[in-house]
Amino acid sequence: MSEIGERISRVKEEIEEARSHSITGEPVELIAVTKTHDVKTIREAIVAGATDIGENKVQELRGKIEEIGPEVRYHMIGNLQSNKVKYIYQDVVLIHSLDRKSLAKEIEKRAQQTNDIVRCLLEVNIGRESSKGGLLFEEVLPFLESILDYSHIKIDGLMTVAPAVDDENYLRALFRKMFALKEDIALRNYKDVDMKYLSMGMSNDFPIAIEEGANMVRIGSRIFGARTY
Ligand SMILES: *Cc1c(COP(=O)(O)O)cnc(C)c1O
Repeated sequence: MSEIGERISRVKEEIEEARSHSITGEPVELIAVTKTHDVKTIREAIVAGATDIGENKVQELRGKIEEIGPEVRYHMIGNLQSNKVKYIYQDVVLIHSLDRKSLAKEIEKRAQQTNDIVRCLLEVNIGRESSKGGLLFEEVLPFLESILDYSHIKIDGLMTVAPAVDDENYLRALFRKMFALKEDIALRNYKDVDMKYLSMGMSNDFPIAIEEGANMVRIGSRIFGARTY
């Protein structure tokens, strides 16, 4: 097995271990985050069983879609500028980073023109970090209600990037808040809102995120090694 294959297997074991005592027990989807890595490396990951890849920059994502094609699913996980929506909205299974009205308007406009439904997660800035995108916790419901009549956008859940800290109790509390918010929204039974996914957990924190209810994790460096830029 390739080195990348071995790392993917190891990560999958750790995912399964965390899932076995998670709050929901649900299966967890793994997104291999391939940003900065070349197509050859990504192909190795695909051979080793990666089915979903995540990228945070439109141009890089677009290039990889062109080269690799439809044999994997693509996720847009990074901050998305409205003027770049047109390059990717038809080729990604999920946009994880919907966090503002201007972006929702642009997605709705494009998707209406081509008669598509675009699936999105609402990004939440759960650590209230000024350096990060995402809605603040208390902004999530009002924002969601403000886009409910956007009939070409379907909200499939929530996403967060937790603060890069080692304090496990703090991280656990933040992940727990995300899970509670997801459950709260689910109970409201909004039309075209399906709180199916809770996308949280990266290389450094995914076991904790899964224990607290994540069912989609985005993992880069644990699979591909440290990024050099
Ligand atoms: C880079 C990135 C990841 C993966 O980070 P690692 O620490 O390398 O696992 C996950 N989510 C987002 C939004 C990212 O930009």
